[in-house]
Amino acid sequence: MKDLVRVWNEMDIDDIGKHLLIIGESTGDCSNCRELGINYSTATTCPKCNNYFKYVASRTHEIRKIKTRRPDLIFIDLEDYKKAAGKIKAKSLFF
Ligand SMILES: [Zn+2]
Repeated sequence: MKDLVRVWNEMDIDDIGKHLLIIGESTGDCSNCRELGINYSTATTCPKCNNYFKYVASRTHEIRKIKTRRPDLIFIDLEDYKKAAGKIKAKSLFF
């Protein structure tokens, strides 16, 4: 029997921030330029900033559906990313 479990990896957070497609209810957002309304089923690059997507994260819990549609992207947990990005931001305020 197969099911989904999260795997912990050390990742380059800046790289994720530049190449992340964040999926909401029905469309995706580009994490690089904040463009909204991207068709996440087909988009390999952002229509606005031309940035290519390497990672995908979801605001909803439709992980399985998104994984099936986009096997080419690395699926990361949005909360994990936000936490890590927040830490970097907090550090850069002090140095
Ligand atoms: Zn963009």
